[in-house]
Amino acid sequence: MSALPPVTPPFDGPSAQVDPAGQVDWNAVRADFPLLLREVHGKPLIYFDNANTGQKPATVIEAMDGFYRRQNANVSRAVHQLGSEATEAYEGTRTRLARFLNVRGDELVLCSGTTFAINLVAYSWALPRLQAGDTILVSRMEHHANIVPWQLVAERTGAAIRVAEIREDGTLDLDALRRAMTSDVKLLALTHVSNVLGTVNPVREICREARRRGVVTVIDGSQAVPHRAVDVAAIGCDFYAFTGHKMCGPTGTGALWARREHLQAMPPFLGGGEMIKEVSFDGTVYNDPPHRFEAGTPNIAGFVGLGAAVDYLERLGMDHVEAREAELLAHLTEELARIDGLRIFGTAADKAAVVAFLVEGAHAHDLATLLDLEGVAIRSGQHCAHPLLQFYGVAATCRASPAFYNTHEEIEAFVAALRKVRTLLS
Ligand code: PLP
Repeated sequence: MSALPPVTPPFDGPSAQVDPAGQVDWNAVRADFPLLLREVHGKPLIYFDNANTGQKPATVIEAMDGFYRRQNANVSRAVHQLGSEATEAYEGTRTRLARFLNVRGDELVLCSGTTFAINLVAYSWALPRLQAGDTILVSRMEHHANIVPWQLVAERTGAAIRVAEIREDGTLDLDALRRAMTSDVKLLALTHVSNVLGTVNPVREICREARRRGVVTVIDGSQAVPHRAVDVAAIGCDFYAFTGHKMCGPTGTGALWARREHLQAMPPFLGGGEMIKEVSFDGTVYNDPPHRFEAGTPNIAGFVGLGAAVDYLERLGMDHVEAREAELLAHLTEELARIDGLRIFGTAADKAAVVAFLVEGAHAHDLATLLDLEGVAIRSGQHCAHPLLQFYGVAATCRASPAFYNTHEEIEAFVAALRKVRTLLS
């Protein structure tokens, strides 16, 4: 009989490869990600679509596998051993995430990801509070997940949507943002890092200003949490949403952090099991936050995997991740800048490893399709950011987004493949 995976804690396993002097063996780190070994169309895979979703280290895959093999049970319900182990593992991830982001665990609602998290704020915080005459401020560079929920709220409440514009280089126009925060603005929805431009917004300063003016802030951390140390308490926002699958965790996991006073005052979004204390036909007493917002059976195995992802990133060190990705970004940008007729969208000084670009004479989808045949996975299209592409007057772009487990050799191979496929299109 083969050895069974460990029970609790389920997250033991090969650690990220950092020596006692703090040097990272990046080849060993890469070897932690089994999928990166595969070929595509007979070529070694170069996975540069990390802004879309990230790959998973073996520890995450094994933690989920181990959960289903050894512990599977529902959470917070059964008194039996498996039930308490499953609950411990699920709640263990809340504790890990809270430590990772420097927040309290009871202020962290576990959910399916950023889209759910922002919709929770929209339906449970904004919908009961906003009315005609109020304004919701969103930036031009938002992902649709931080635009459409506010449009739905605006439609139902009569509130208006105002757009905080960006500059040509892809940075937020901070003066315009300040001017736009007039007394009718009740909520500011802003991304921490743009999924297209890579721009890192100065969310701490912006939230300080918003707070001074009584504007509630919703920060979309989807593209920040996977790439740098994020101290949510220091940012000083009201809500912070993020998603697990971009930070080495499984799809269908994520969380909303919210100030306790907001969570206490918010009505439930979904009704069902777990979110109640007592139910009768005379009335129902809701559970306390955060469980009040976690109706139904959650993605337990997914959250076990997300806990393992947090452990992995903590062992590797987010400062190492940030430094490695900055190095890869600099290399990639330098190589792309040498290609005639290539335009990069987003050149902010503080930028994450996301490069949106177009090559003169070649359609983004054609380039991405031909690159796929060379084994290179990049994204092409509108990146769930139509208003941003409208600003630049383009219908689509390519987007290459390396992560810490990618290599300088892959950047060179990608650029060589890009040069090759471009000649096929011209
Ligand atoms: N916000 C940003 C900036 C994103 O990049 C994404 C994912 O692409 C989302 C929100 C939506 O995340 P999810 O689909 O995991 O809910």
